Amino acid sequence: MTTSASALFSRRFRSFEAHGPLPCPPSGWTWEGLMELALQEAQKAFDSFEVPVGAVLVDVSGQILGRGHNTPRTDCDTTAHAEINALRMACRRLANYRLPGRIMVVTLEPCAMCASAILQARLSGLVFGAYDRLCGAVSSAAEYFDPPCAPASAPWHMGGVLADSCQTILKEFFVGRRENE
Ligand SMILES: [Zn+2]
Repeated sequence: MTTSASALFSRRFRSFEAHGPLPCPPSGWTWEGLMELALQEAQKAFDSFEVPVGAVLVDVSGQILGRGHNTPRTDCDTTAHAEINALRMACRRLANYRLPGRIMVVTLEPCAMCASAILQARLSGLVFGAYDRLCGAVSSAAEYFDPPCAPASAPWHMGGVLADSCQTILKEFFVGRRENE
């Protein structure tokens, strides 16, 4: 964990002893390395003219269980955010609708829909890159994973990992879209 990420993490620290594992990266990974994978997914969205957000789902042994990027336009599916697509892949793979012990790494702070899905899936942790000041439901616009609203099973969470890279790809996408309008 970088110093800046560590600082952000401690500000948002929840009770790990009570609710989840210590936030050390899964075996063989750094948080930045996992975020690079999520950024590769975001690039796929960018290349498909979708808002470039990407996500990966990993277990503590370091195995990647799911990947996803935004595909709502491509799939004509309002719910096809990166996190939902990654959750669907992992749930099918494990043949289980709940994924305790697993961690989501996503380039942008999840929206309310995705934060709720993460709660429903019983994930243990969430790492995100850029903060979403308007729609982020973890730290920015709402705090779905923190008391008093969050259930005891809510995941620990950490934002700001490779935030500049995660923000830059979004900026490039929206600047390009405005220029083409
Ligand atoms: Zn979402």
